[in-house]
Amino acid sequence: MSKEIEKVKCLIIGTGPAGYTAAIYAARADLKPVVYSGMVMGGQLTQTTDVDNFPGYSKGVTGVEMMNDFREQAERFGAEIRFGVITAVDFSKRPFTVTTDEGNIIEAETVIVSTGATAKWLGMASEEKYQGHGVSACATCDGFFFRGMEVAVVGGGDTATEEATYLANLCKKVYLIVRRDELRASKAMQHRIFNTPNIEVLWNHVTEEIVGDNDNITGVRVKNVKTGEVNLIDVQGFFVAIGHQPNTEIFAGQLELDSMGYIKTVPGSARTNVEGVFAAGDVQDHIYRQAITAAGSGCMAAIEAERWLAEVKFEEKSGIKG
Ligand code: NDP
Repeated sequence: MSKEIEKVKCLIIGTGPAGYTAAIYAARADLKPVVYSGMVMGGQLTQTTDVDNFPGYSKGVTGVEMMNDFREQAERFGAEIRFGVITAVDFSKRPFTVTTDEGNIIEAETVIVSTGATAKWLGMASEEKYQGHGVSACATCDGFFFRGMEVAVVGGGDTATEEATYLANLCKKVYLIVRRDELRASKAMQHRIFNTPNIEVLWNHVTEEIVGDNDNITGVRVKNVKTGEVNLIDVQGFFVAIGHQPNTEIFAGQLELDSMGYIKTVPGSARTNVEGVFAAGDVQDHIYRQAITAAGSGCMAAIEAERWLAEVKFEEKSGIKG
């Protein structure tokens, strides 16, 4: 027996600050949004520590708490938030069709894509081998296991420096492995790194291999790219913090993507190349990537979706274009 096709006015894919903000605005505009969470309800922020730069939280807030607040606010206005993943989309005709991981088909009049981005890995076999056995991409999630130990963080951006300072509170020593002779991180984070005594920056170093005893890691072999010198540092934890990949696999061939895989939007708007499909947050932004900018673009997407739907309805009723 074939399943019944669900019809929704506004489908939102992703539950980071962009998706939830779009849900708040869409729900208040009576679009009755249905929101699919993706693999991680609340998105990347649920894997960070404190958020100190989101206006309104004057004393700071944890990423998890903030995302729960966003969710509650969206639900207060009637957004329906579901735990599930969208596995395929067809944007070639309207209404748009999406398939869920349970094999359900949904027809949506408008879609807001806010699927965010995912942490990148170095791509070494030893990194994969020891994932969950000393190798991690999330200090907040796993740092606890390395209390009192020595660990390494690879990367030189805000994520790596945040992770390193977070770990420095828990661990005896933190090596920050940086492939160049400078950090990409903000000046504020750089000051924190340089003023934390148990963080040692290994400038111009790359990771050659993670070594272990087959159960857990025991060290990391690093190479100084300037001198060619190779050293083994004894660490029990290895945290990868080298940036992100946009979550756009299912949109390839459906939406225009840039060379890095981010969804292209019309500058100053959330419009994609498909009328009626909008994109917000990190999935279309490799520059700012902040919770506040993601939230702002989620708001834009919902407002544009509402206006677009109203226009389409007007055209259908009146026969007048535009
Ligand atoms: P970034 O892209 O900013 O930084 C990635 C870092 O990893 C760079 O230092 C890069 O080196 C290094 N790197 C990349 N590939 C490799 C590799 N294969 N081997 C070794 N090193 C590598 O990513 P982030 O995740 O740090 O930050 C993403 C965005 O999110 C930024 O805009 C950042 O400002 C923002 N952010 C903001 C926070 C906040 O405001 N609280 C917290 C965290 C992130 P190189 O410099 O040589 O390219």
